[in-house]
Amino acid sequence: MTAGRVRVNGEIVTELGTKVDPSVDVVTLDGRTLSLAEEPVYIAFNKPAGVVTTMSDPQDRVTVATLVPVKEHPGLFPVGRLDYDTTGLLLFTTDGEIAHRLLHPKWKVEKVYRALIDGRAMEAELQRLRDGIALDDGLTAPARVKSLRSSGTTTFVEIAISEGRKRQVRRMFSKIRHPVIELHRVSFGPVPLGDLSRASWRHLSAEEVRALREAVDLTGAEDR
Ligand code: URA
Repeated sequence: MTAGRVRVNGEIVTELGTKVDPSVDVVTLDGRTLSLAEEPVYIAFNKPAGVVTTMSDPQDRVTVATLVPVKEHPGLFPVGRLDYDTTGLLLFTTDGEIAHRLLHPKWKVEKVYRALIDGRAMEAELQRLRDGIALDDGLTAPARVKSLRSSGTTTFVEIAISEGRKRQVRRMFSKIRHPVIELHRVSFGPVPLGDLSRASWRHLSAEEVRALREAVDLTGAEDR
């Protein structure tokens, strides 16, 4: 530090502990600019019902922003959205490129939901969802659907879709006349919700981040 190798905005720094602002100051070591950018942050959150997936709400409803560490990680935002009453896995990141790709139809990232639906769903009805069903905004892409159990008046179903249209799962089940009573997302691409408790969040592991990046063809450090 005192050898005159470090400069901040062109000025040699001789004092240890000199403070810099990574967003504006240019720091060089032996003439080479150092990258001070913060590493991107990736968070999994277990969204409770009755919370809006926006960072602020004009109607003053509880937002997800009050439940994830936005102060510690400025720029954190949700990857897509879950409806007000939908629960389960919502990813957050500060990384705009990965968020864009995770939501883009080109990469067909699979999202898995568990749905409690009204009535006893017949195989032929579920098959219509697997094959693709006509919604107001067009035919849905093939989906994986399996009935987990039925009480007679309701059915518990797992559905995996690779699109992300507004209220898509609810609209698909309404179309076969089995409206959704409860909807819970259990995974997003390679990331499972796991045993994260309601309204809690956790950082993704390095392995999960690697798998998520790989799922949208962002491999290697050069993509960062
Ligand atoms: N599909 C829906 O209908 N709602 C959600 O919140 C997510 C997927």
